[in-house]
Amino acid sequence: MEIAQTLPEPKPKFFSLTLPELTEAIKSLGKPGFRGQQLYRWIYGMGMQDFEKMTNFSKEFRKEVPGMFDFQLPEVLTVHKSVDGTMKMLFNVGTGKSVEAVLIPSPGRLTICLSSEVGCNMGCKFCYTGKQKLQRKLETWEIVGQFVQASRALPPGQRITNIVFMGMGEPLDNCDAVFKSIEILHSTWGLNVSRKRVTVSTSGIVPMIPRVTQAGVRLAVSLNGVNDQVRTEIMPINKRWPLEQLLEACREHCRETGDMVTFEYVLLKGVTDSIQDARDLHELTRTVPCKVNIIPFNEHPGSGFTRPPEKAIVAFQNELIRLGTHVLRRRTMGRDIYAACGQLTTAANKTTPPVVSLN
Ligand code: SAH
Ligand code: SF4
Repeated sequence: MEIAQTLPEPKPKFFSLTLPELTEAIKSLGKPGFRGQQLYRWIYGMGMQDFEKMTNFSKEFRKEVPGMFDFQLPEVLTVHKSVDGTMKMLFNVGTGKSVEAVLIPSPGRLTICLSSEVGCNMGCKFCYTGKQKLQRKLETWEIVGQFVQASRALPPGQRITNIVFMGMGEPLDNCDAVFKSIEILHSTWGLNVSRKRVTVSTSGIVPMIPRVTQAGVRLAVSLNGVNDQVRTEIMPINKRWPLEQLLEACREHCRETGDMVTFEYVLLKGVTDSIQDARDLHELTRTVPCKVNIIPFNEHPGSGFTRPPEKAIVAFQNELIRLGTHVLRRRTMGRDIYAACGQLTTAANKTTPPVVSLN
């Protein structure tokens, strides 16, 4: 093809380009820059996959555009649907590895939980992903691609409304790709996901928290321990950035944005679930504008931890309510398909058959 000879090889990945980058790339090929906006609108906004149907393009441009960029998306290996409506998609990321995205329906919203890395180096003791050391960081197109592929798998008319970076990996260990993905997903010419509907969850990489502030998105912090001793035991990152530094970074985020932080708190039987822990959690978090999400531990083989009995979970939550903490219990979704928090692993899950297999 003629045009391909004039293009740089390898071709730029379309799903890694922000709109200004796409516009520049198109201009450098001697085409008008506004074609970038049009492409964003067709591909992201309208979900169009057929270039021939992009009616406001000239015939010539319709023919040229597939050769201009690499439109590769992460390959969908399987789609599992839970009895509660949660959908888990498994993506091939090469060399026998895979990552997962989870779609979680709730009244009035449809949230996607995105992965940012293959494995994770933070080594939290209770986390299934953490058992698998970091294999590699995902590229922008692989993060954006999870969203695009999930959108394409939805019935017509359904749209993803919220994004949480709570899948596999530590998003603040892969800032460049994560924040670029957010820019792309946010573009008003494309998917138009509002910044306030995006939440980045971190185990506490303190120096990177200002990136969340600058991006204008919401911050969630996995607290999980009420003092440095317990937290360091279950989350080694606490040695590097202990609680007081972490909380100060959260306060700074709140001061700058006027937002609240969400603290995630995993309830581990005999480790983090006592009434005294609830009181200490209240004391710790009252210095930060926040809400607390308690997450009863999702069990997985060989973790060495157990989920507290229902009575203890309720008592813990009630103590926080009594003290005036804004607390919510995270509903456990998708447990039957291993899609719940901390159950995501790069090993293909063979425990449940796929209800939809796209290959
Ligand atoms: N790496 C980021 C985001 C992914 S983990 C982070 O740690 O914040 C998403 C959430 O799942 C975290 O709050 C983590 O504490 C929690 N989690 C991990 N393993 C879990 C498990 N087995 N049961 C319940 N929650 C878990
Ligand atoms: Fe990584 Fe988050 Fe799991 Fe910790 S909880 S190992 S940071 S994915």
